[in-house]
This record gives sequence, structure tokens and C-alpha cells, in this order.
Amino acid sequence: MKRTHHCNELRPLNIGQTATLTGWVHSRRDLGGVIFIDVRDREGRTQTVFDPSDLSKELFDQAGALRSECVIEVTGKVRQRPEGTNNAKIPTGEVELLVESLKVLNIAEVLPFPVDDPEITAKVNEELRLQYRFLDLRRPELARNLRVRSKVAIATRSFMDEQGFLEVETPTLFKSTPEGAREFVVPARMSPGLFYALPQSPQQFKQILMVSGVERYFQLARCYRDEDLRADRQPEFTQIDIEMSFIEREDIYALIEGMLHRLWKVALNKDIPLPFPRITYAEAMNRFGIDKPDTRFAMELVDMTDDFRASTFKVFSGAIANGGVVKALNAKGLACATQGQIETMTEYAKSFGAKGLAFIKVEGGEWKSPIVKFFSEAEKSALKTKLAIEEGDLILFAADQWTNACEILGKIRLYCADVLKAQGKLTIPSDRFDFLWVVDFPLLSFDKEQNRWYSSHHPFTAPVEEDIPLLKSDPKKVRGQHYDIVVNGVELGGGSIRIHQPDVQKTVFEEVLQIPPDMVKARFGYMLNAFRFGAPPHGGIALGFDRLIAILCGASSLRDVIAFPKTAKAPDLRPDSPCTFQPRQLRYLHLEIQVGKKE
Ligand code: ASP
Repeated sequence: MKRTHHCNELRPLNIGQTATLTGWVHSRRDLGGVIFIDVRDREGRTQTVFDPSDLSKELFDQAGALRSECVIEVTGKVRQRPEGTNNAKIPTGEVELLVESLKVLNIAEVLPFPVDDPEITAKVNEELRLQYRFLDLRRPELARNLRVRSKVAIATRSFMDEQGFLEVETPTLFKSTPEGAREFVVPARMSPGLFYALPQSPQQFKQILMVSGVERYFQLARCYRDEDLRADRQPEFTQIDIEMSFIEREDIYALIEGMLHRLWKVALNKDIPLPFPRITYAEAMNRFGIDKPDTRFAMELVDMTDDFRASTFKVFSGAIANGGVVKALNAKGLACATQGQIETMTEYAKSFGAKGLAFIKVEGGEWKSPIVKFFSEAEKSALKTKLAIEEGDLILFAADQWTNACEILGKIRLYCADVLKAQGKLTIPSDRFDFLWVVDFPLLSFDKEQNRWYSSHHPFTAPVEEDIPLLKSDPKKVRGQHYDIVVNGVELGGGSIRIHQPDVQKTVFEEVLQIPPDMVKARFGYMLNAFRFGAPPHGGIALGFDRLIAILCGASSLRDVIAFPKTAKAPDLRPDSPCTFQPRQLRYLHLEIQVGKKE
């Protein structure tokens, strides 16, 4: 190495030694004829001093001309900082390097934004930062995120190795298996007119590996989904992908709990309590209005169906008569909600097809609401007790079919929590992690538009054994052996015990999901065929690796934990990706381009 120490290494112990540091000019200050340059590398920074009385004029002038982010090598003597000038904020803050020689290794042009002040940089437009990602990544916060990511990836591999798993790579060039998201396609030059699709996950391959006798497979797998970009989605992402043979659901729970315990220890030195609580899908929806509940705060949904069944308030009793439910939520302390906030919540309700949002503000000893006059004394008293209503509360209602009513209030619950947080009425410590398993999902959901059942997880998920007889008679009641792992309201991953008998799988495809046999053959034929030659019972799970790292780093966006993320405006920001192809290139791919109108 050119250097003797990194920039976060020198301490009072080194005083009197000669040291060479290499790195970037983090900041430069000219003070009374002496120049101070903080040299930074990925470990930290050290103050260096250029004193004109010890240096040639040429060297001193060279130091004076250095711009931020030039790359330098400095050699000098380590000395104690003069009294009163220690910098307690950095670990090298008691010493400085009195420079004897300077080598300018590279000049930096004027920067598009400063990287030495995290507060200023954090305010710089994200698009500009992404355009100059190489500079952005020099910021200590992002550098730390990359480091955590690397550590956690390595810890994952060691843990899985200790548990007897083999890391197996699976192809990136695969075929279309349309269930779920849209896929990215790659033209196959050797087979004119044919295309590969990039895998949405290695699902079929990992199951085939079980037929191959691998028994325990894992992979930090790259997956691709051609979906619109959102803060918590990237079109290419990484999963910790896992599959095991001869297991039950309990084995997956134990494995993942052990793994997450290890990862939290490695990244945050935190012992998360095990085992994680479990909650059924039905309970999660009933209490929190969502299948990935954030249980760090209560504000639970309360069922008022029985109390309003015979109500004269037809909006409620009518919904119940239609097979629906009435649910309510007490947003404690939110009677002060502004008109705008109420409108936002009403819009949420409407986005689920509701006509509006019924609510009561409890203010000045009164229940302020246009609907209260329709309520009987018994109904009012039921509300008061079940919702523990007090002065200052805001009560919100949803009267609809069960799923809808739950989801409306589930969304409003999260919104109210954000408002309460902003008002300082709800505080959640940043190092609190509420893990839980969500289990007993329905195997199937109904698509009203297409008038058919589709798999809640994916079509390889096995039904709960005792529900199998209901598959044809009452599909809605069949529970799947599917589980999701959730932390702080974020779905970290999900998986299932799989169907391993080819005939059951065929029934699910053809009779329940009504996928035509030729399509089943084209999409899943290879796997179904493999299953005819001795498929062990098996199951697995996949955890979103980017999301996991974002949670560990406390990052609000996945982009902050991916070295080179995609953005919604990717083409503008990085003109080289995606790119146009020359006619000659298109010819050998047997492609002709017709850019259609936007849908
Ligand atoms: N392949 C599934 C997914 O990506 C996970 C699994 O079932 O193992 O969601």
C-alpha cells in the first residue's frame, strides 16, 4: 500500500511517528497563513497541517490550490493538536499530521454538489445525486450502507453454510412464466422470433433442485420484475432464496428466526427475541386491516357489526344486510385532524370503492358528527365502551364487505399513525423491531373482473392438508401452507410448503385456476415432468435482501442501499441505459422496432 495508515487510524499513541495517508481532500481551511486539509478515505478522516515555515513555497502553493475531492498522498509527522483544538466528533480528533511531502495523485473538477457536509448533501436533489452516483457513494451514510450490505450478505452465506445449505446459481435467461408481474424479455438470436424472459424468482429451478436431491438450497438471487418503480420496489432486486426438502412449516420458521437473529446481531449487535409471534391472516386483517401489520402501536380495528345490525342508520345496517361488516377505529387524540387530513382519509376510503368516510370528532364534551343523530343510545354506549372513547378522540368507520372494510381502516390506521408521529403524540424508538409470522392465508383469491380464482401466493403452494377436500366444493375456505415474515409493517419475505404430487398440482392448475392444459404444459411442463420422477415433499421462502438491508440501515428508500439503483427517470439520468440499438444490431436479432402509442 502507498499508505502506512488509513484515515481513521491515527491516535495519541502514534504521536512522533511518520505516517503516510492517501485519500480525498475532504475540506480545506486557510487559517492565518496555515492550511488545514482533512484527508478522507472510506474509514474516516484525519486533519493534516501545511505550515509555510516548514515547506517549500512550491509545495505550500500546491496545497493552497487543492480543490475538494482531489486525490492526494501526504507524508508527515503525527503530532498532538494544540490545546483547545481537539475535535471530539471524529476518532482521530486528538492528533494531526504535520505535512512534509505531498503528492497530488489526481485533480477533481469543481463538484456538482458538496460531499463533505451530510446535511447539505441530503438536501441536494436526488436526481442530481443519482446522476453523480460515484460522488454520492462517497458520503459516509451511503458508504456505511454498502458496508452493512456486504457484511450481512457474508453473514447470510456463513449461516446457511453452517445449516447445511448449498449455494446454487440458477439461470438468468429463462422463459416466460406469467403469473404475477410483467417480465423483461431478451431476444434469442439463435432462434429467430423467440425470446427469453428474465426470472421473477428462481421458483421453478429451486423446486427442481429438490427433485435433484439437493435437499437444502439457497442463493442470493437476482430477480427481475417489469413493474412501475416505487420507493419500495426496484425492477431488479436481490432475494435470499431458500428451499428445503422433507420439512414442515415449523422448520422454515425456526431456520428464518435463527438467520434473522444472526443478521441483527452482526449488523446492529442486537439480540432480537425469539420465537416470533404468529398471527393468522384473518386476525391480522380483523385487528390491523392489513396482512403485514405494524404492531409497534395499537390503534386496532374494532368490529361493530352486531351492534349496528338493526340500526336505523341505513348506511351501516344496509351494508350488514348485504353480507358486509361495520368496523371502527379510534385515532386517539386526533379530534384536531384538519379538513385536509379528513379529505385525505376520505380519498383512501373512496379508492376502495366506498362512497365516503363516516367519522366522529370528540371535542368539547360533544360527539361532533352528522351521523350521530341516527344512533340509538345502545349503539352510542356500545361505541363508547368498545372503543374506549374519550375527549380528543377521532372515530372512523368503514361499512363494507369484510376485506374492503378492513383494508380501508387499515390504510387509515397507518395514515393516522403518521399524523400522530408528526404531532409528537406517538413515538416509536428507531431500534424497535416487531417481527411476526403471518400464517393461514387463503390459498386462493377471487378475481371479479376475470371471474376466476387465482393463487394468493403462487400456484405451487400446498393447501392445508385438512382443507384439501374443499378445493373443488368451497375454494374460498381453503387455507394455504403459506407464511409471510413481517417486521414493523414491512413484508420481509414469504414462502410456502409446496405441492409435490404432480396430480394435485395438475388439478390446481387446470381445475381450480382454470389454466388451459396446453398453457400448463408450456409454462410448467418441465417442472411437472420432473415431479413424475420422485419429488420429495419440500417448501421454501424468499426474503427481499434490499428491503432487509434498508430496515437494518434505517433507510427510507431502497435506493439508499443499492449501489446503482434504477429510478423512475432512469433514461434521463443515465442516458446509456436503456439504450437504442443500431439497425444492424436489430437485424441480427431479427427484430423490427415499431414504437406504439402509450397505452
Ligand atoms: N418465489 C417466491 C417469491 O419470490 C417465494 C417462495 O415461495 O419461496 O415470492
